[in-house]
Amino acid sequence: MKNMTLCCFCGAVFEGNDGSVLQCPHCGWQIDAGAYKALLGAAQGAVKYGWQYRRCYEADVAQYGRVERYYCLAECEEAFHYAALAAASGIIGGLAYDAVKQVIQKIAAALGRDKHKSGETSIFYLIDHPEEMDRFIQYIDEYYTCFDSISEEVRNAVFEEMVVDKMSPTMDRLLQEANPDMDTEGIRRMSPFPEEEIFRCMLEVRREVDQRHKLRREDFAGLWENKDK
Ligand SMILES: [Zn+2]
Repeated sequence: MKNMTLCCFCGAVFEGNDGSVLQCPHCGWQIDAGAYKALLGAAQGAVKYGWQYRRCYEADVAQYGRVERYYCLAECEEAFHYAALAAASGIIGGLAYDAVKQVIQKIAAALGRDKHKSGETSIFYLIDHPEEMDRFIQYIDEYYTCFDSISEEVRNAVFEEMVVDKMSPTMDRLLQEANPDMDTEGIRRMSPFPEEEIFRCMLEVRREVDQRHKLRREDFAGLWENKDK
């Protein structure tokens, strides 16, 4: 699957090109390639933090009364990112849940089952479990519009996950710069991160989460009007 694009006007999935503008061959909808990439990148974050990790930590709290441990979850297939984009732009753009579901079903049908992704990382997990589909749309909506509404404990665990992800590239760079023969004692001396680095990352993550609140209905005006075609 290469360079697929979700049309936010008719819900079709089409193969993009390398140009600066992406155009849907079915309805003519156009979007700047850079703007689309930014939307999809945000949707990827919504799936990872707003859905996958939140679910995991909520399950821990339900079972043990607190966040028990941190996870390293397998990434969801790309179709999930399109589904999140559909949910976010659909809900904010004023679509009903049922209409969003219809678009997600269309995405799944267009892309088909990925043999390499199964269980909860496949988009068909949502198709096969209607109650999880409802929950997915709700969680993506909350990730963008009211992240503060989720329980404080779960929210903090998700924030920590974001901070760690933000810091990983810095950690990799430090390791690369260090002597390749460095022993584990050396790694331990380099870690943990200096406090100001952690603080900087936390501020950055916080700011990015706040920026999601800026998504407004008018950003998606005119989208999805043609989804039934
Ligand atoms: Zn279209």
